[in-house]
Amino acid sequence: MKNPGTVGAVSGAGMVHDWTHFNHPQHATPAERLLSRIDARHAGKGRWMACCPAHDDRSPSLSIHECEDGRVLVHCFSGCPADDVVAAVGLSLADLFPRRLDSSSRRHGLPEWKRRQLLDVASFERLVLAVADADRRAGFPLSGDDAARVALAQERLRKVEGVLLHG
Ligand SMILES: [Zn+2]
Repeated sequence: MKNPGTVGAVSGAGMVHDWTHFNHPQHATPAERLLSRIDARHAGKGRWMACCPAHDDRSPSLSIHECEDGRVLVHCFSGCPADDVVAAVGLSLADLFPRRLDSSSRRHGLPEWKRRQLLDVASFERLVLAVADADRRAGFPLSGDDAARVALAQERLRKVEGVLLHG
């Protein structure tokens, strides 16, 4: 058994990786949980590219992004839903959130089904934002309707995350 004291972290500047605690997933960050199961290429601070495990992917089309707060966003540019991507490597969408969200929602008595529902909503709204972001980077301007939908997605994410954090 590995010494649980040697727990490393994916840090912004130092990039000190100690993968030895992957056998203890409850101690890993969401990024570590995912990256331990996917052969991903580091693509900048908090960003990785990998072949998508949810479809027959020959060139890496899965973008992985670790947010400042530890959440992980996954986006398959071939269109696989985020829950399919994580399910393909034996994880659930909840694994993309830091564990403290779990304990915090338990402390506030949020029922499991409600938490999962909120995580699903958050996943979908993140997908909306990712698609809009991909369009913008590809040079397609957002229409007024799309911009309104993006604003709605941001608003919903803010609310959902508020509930997940504070019950
Ligand atoms: Zn895919």
